Amino acid sequence: MSLFSHPDFDGHERVLFAHDAEAGLKAVIAIHSTRLGRAAGGCRMWPYASEDEAVADALRLSRGMTYKNAVAGLDLGGGKAVIVGDPRTDKTPALMRAFGRAVHDLGGRYVTAEDVGMSVADMEIVREVTPHVAGLASGPHASGDPSPVTARGVFEGMRTALLVATGSDDLAGRTVAVQGLGHVGRHLCALLHAAGARLVVSDIDPARVADAERAFDARAVAPDEIARVLADVYAPCALGGVLDDASIPRLGARIVAGAANNQLARPEHADALHARGILYVPDFLYVPDFALNAGGIINVAREIEGRTDDAWLAQRLAAMVANLAAILREAVDRDVSPNAVAEAFARRRLA
Ligand code: NAD
Repeated sequence: MSLFSHPDFDGHERVLFAHDAEAGLKAVIAIHSTRLGRAAGGCRMWPYASEDEAVADALRLSRGMTYKNAVAGLDLGGGKAVIVGDPRTDKTPALMRAFGRAVHDLGGRYVTAEDVGMSVADMEIVREVTPHVAGLASGPHASGDPSPVTARGVFEGMRTALLVATGSDDLAGRTVAVQGLGHVGRHLCALLHAAGARLVVSDIDPARVADAERAFDARAVAPDEIARVLADVYAPCALGGVLDDASIPRLGARIVAGAANNQLARPEHADALHARGILYVPDFLYVPDFALNAGGIINVAREIEGRTDDAWLAQRLAAMVANLAAILREAVDRDVSPNAVAEAFARRRLA
């Protein structure tokens, strides 16, 4: 495995490989940029098929956090951690403490929080060994689970995309295909259901699918069908890499707007999506994930900055949605990929 010439390395400031044999910890902590402030981003635990896959995920997620924090207008840099293992069977308090010690060794350059496979309770254990953790349930500035705020941001961003693409942001009677019914996906379904949207859902966990059928009158489809569902919006809320050579020509929705990080399998898929919009559906719109799913990190940023006021949170979310609206309008006006516009927006801040 190469690191400095890795396609996702992109000038990372630091990459820490943390190992603790006794606790069973194998983790990668990647700090892409501290240009705008301390690097902040969640910790993911996943049974990666290989160590190369874990490193690539850490690098891509960390770089994505730099762009996400920049577009959201936060004074935070980008970083991310991944732990190799199955969160259902391999996660122990000793492992979380060993991870926390690795975060602590970075001296506050990186602040961790929860991501896929992690919970608020896990972050409470990390806090036993380091103050450089947010998304906590207790403490003077505790912000708790960031997922409801992420879902709120995705919901508002989805309405913005509908407005730009169709002239109306009304969700009543619209069909939304939600992939992944975890922390964010379920909250998003609740908001969409309350707004009168029809839901089509998929998850690899049958209990979560049954819950959505019951709670939101959702129609379930198999995991490999959700991207093809004829819908107004396809909302990827599971893992990344879902927009690739195979899925893009078969997308059934006119808008892709979801919470999952790194939805593009490769950067050039942004152009493939844009070309599809021109060639097949004139108003097809792909909403770059990092410009849409910053609600959670905004919630975490409130805790890092030692704030508790809801007004600050609401103002930051509104700013994120306003930036997103400007990015989508510019992309449509100039007939360029929204991804390219969003990345240029972030680079202007980083410069
Ligand atoms: P989660 O682990 O709670 O939920 C993920 C869900 O996806 C699970 O229910 C899982 O069973 C399901 N899933 C996995 N593979 C699937 C597949 N192939 N098809 C359908 N379902 C599948 O994670 P989460 O916190 O809800 O995060 C979801 C996504 O949003 C992740 O990509 C995450 O990085 C991103 N994100 C989350 C937040 C946050 O605040 N939690 C913030 C920004 C971005």
